[in-house]
Amino acid sequence: MHELPVTKSILGIVLRHAEVQGVKKVHAIDLSIGALSDLEAEWLQSYFDHLSKGTPAEGAELRVHRSQLTFLCEPCSKEFTATREELETAACPLCGSRDGSIVGGTAYTVESMEAE
Ligand SMILES: [Zn+2]
Repeated sequence: MHELPVTKSILGIVLRHAEVQGVKKVHAIDLSIGALSDLEAEWLQSYFDHLSKGTPAEGAELRVHRSQLTFLCEPCSKEFTATREELETAACPLCGSRDGSIVGGTAYTVESMEAE
């Protein structure tokens, strides 16, 4: 379970933003999680509920969005994206090659948050 340290880091980011913006209450947080990440939304939410007690982010809803994979084409160096389902078949839109290597898809980012 590596959701716990990830959740801590997400909460840290959220609370820093909340402080800077003078936010009293965070209602929802939009999270983008790489298509290859094995982070589970339910675990994130349950750790978050636990860790955020007594902070402005207590009770906030985590809205998890899966981002697409990013490939880098070996022959022509073009970057392109594909969904997780297309992992085996993704081809470069420029040259048609399937020799792409995955350069993104495991990161997570806090995209935005709803607060007052
Ligand atoms: Zn290419």
